[in-house]
Amino acid sequence: MITVIGSMNMDIVVQTDNFPVQGETVLGQLFTTVPGGKGSNQAVAAARLGSKVQMLASVGIDSFGNELLADLKANGVNTDSVIQTEEAATGIANILLSEGDNRIIVVPGANYSLTVESIKNMKETIQQSTFVIMQLEIPIPVVKYTLELCLELNVPVLLNPAPASGFQLEFMDYIAYLTPNETECELIFGENMEATLEKYPNKLIVTLGSDGARYFDGNKHIVVPGFKTNAIDTTGAGDTFNGALVHALGQGLSLEQAVRFANASASLSVEKFGAQGGMPSHEEVVNRLE
Ligand code: ATP
Repeated sequence: MITVIGSMNMDIVVQTDNFPVQGETVLGQLFTTVPGGKGSNQAVAAARLGSKVQMLASVGIDSFGNELLADLKANGVNTDSVIQTEEAATGIANILLSEGDNRIIVVPGANYSLTVESIKNMKETIQQSTFVIMQLEIPIPVVKYTLELCLELNVPVLLNPAPASGFQLEFMDYIAYLTPNETECELIFGENMEATLEKYPNKLIVTLGSDGARYFDGNKHIVVPGFKTNAIDTTGAGDTFNGALVHALGQGLSLEQAVRFANASASLSVEKFGAQGGMPSHEEVVNRLE
């Protein structure tokens, strides 16, 4: 069982020809709501591939919360441990799109109602996990406590350090894998990526967009190339990569094979609109790998 401990957001997407300037009202062309949040997305990515997945998160008692729960269930994710809180509204990301540009406001809402106490209460649930996946869209003290608990329980953790501002260097001592993209890697560790990778062999895996991903295996640098494809929407590529990587490791693949599997999965995800829209099944990934 993979346990994802993280955010659940409703993405509120508005498309417009021109962003309004201060005090201005403009007409938009399209409005849609799409389930998102890095936690939900990574849970759905792993579940679509066939892993058993449970979500540990917090949403509000409102229609967005209900919709997000329904989305996870429809994808086969166990939601028994998702808390519905009265304290806050479900987290949202307000996304304005215009001519390939975007402006985003995230309101964490109920995601920030997740507490150390709620994690403590779920110790037994976490103990049943073969792997825990986390990101940094929930309160950092909760992330820190969960990492300590997972180490105590001997459950390996993949941490996707996004947003990078929440990352603390000491987290490296608690985790099995860290998966920043290039920008996050530079923000966290500074500019010399080669030296940084050598410091964390088989642990630090940096995603490189269409170029794939890289890590250091203790002897040499391994670059696992991406799969060339016609990208329609890269939103959620990283989330697909993370869910797929943990799924593949759970299948007993070597790190290099698992990264290749994750690249193939993420390349399929960018071929369709929306973070979850293109997340593939196991069979689709196997076909791409052939
Ligand atoms: P995002 O924020 O867009 O979800 P990210 O910035 O977290 O993604 P990236 O390094 O851009 O992470 O992409 C993650 C993975 O997705 C890459 O390692 C690669 O496997 C795959 N990928 C991303 N973009 C493309 C693309 N244009 N074509 C093929 N694969 C891609």
